[in-house]
Amino acid sequence: MTTGLVPGARRVGVMGGTFDPIHHGHLVAASEVQAWFDLDEVVFVPTGDPWQKSDRDVSPAEDRYLMTVIATAANPRFNVSRVDIDRHGPTYTIDTLKDLKARFPDAELYFITGADALADIFTWRDAEELFALAQFVGCTRPGYAMDESTLAGIPADRVTMVEIPALAISSTDCRDRKRRGEPVWYLVPDGVVQYIAKHDLYPTKDPTKDPA
Ligand code: ATP
Ligand code: MG
Repeated sequence: MTTGLVPGARRVGVMGGTFDPIHHGHLVAASEVQAWFDLDEVVFVPTGDPWQKSDRDVSPAEDRYLMTVIATAANPRFNVSRVDIDRHGPTYTIDTLKDLKARFPDAELYFITGADALADIFTWRDAEELFALAQFVGCTRPGYAMDESTLAGIPADRVTMVEIPALAISSTDCRDRKRRGEPVWYLVPDGVVQYIAKHDLYPTKDPTKDPA
């Protein structure tokens, strides 16, 4: 397979996610991969309409985008892209990578994904084309064992597994904690805690009104 890699090319990490909310697991994974591959920047790409998660209500894209901006603002190598939230219709990784390739035509793209998302890779559309557009970096994630069969169908020169310091944080757990009235301090950046409170995302359920 031709990689189209150019010696000395700019290296750009792409961290896609729903980021509902963004948490320190995402940020540590991005930071580790940035250092590991000496990336010039990591672009966080909040999803638009998340087709994988249509079974639950996802917070508005603008809220997820702004939380991602707040969480990444202090890191000079972190940026946020609106390509997925500005594109009409559901988000497919192939479209994300094509749009970013157009934005960074000479760059090597490194698509950063947790072990759980990597396991789903062949359920994504156009898997072969994905590998031609980017290197894939699979990050270990507590609670998600990487079984060898996951990697078996992926071209070995297109994916690298990286061990991330274990942070057993998920957005689902953060949302559930908020709904139970428990704190999310230190699981997500301070500014994100404040944004969630200000916009009343994941409101606490009153068990006396909603016994379910
Ligand atoms: P949810 O629980 O809503 O699915 P999430 O915590 O999995 O949220 P996503 O926005 O779905 O967050 O994840 C975006 C990407 O970040 C995915 O590739 C996911 O595997 C990865 N990721 C999320 N949490 C971690 C973590 N703690 N360590 C490493 N990778 C992570
Ligand atoms: Mg997830």
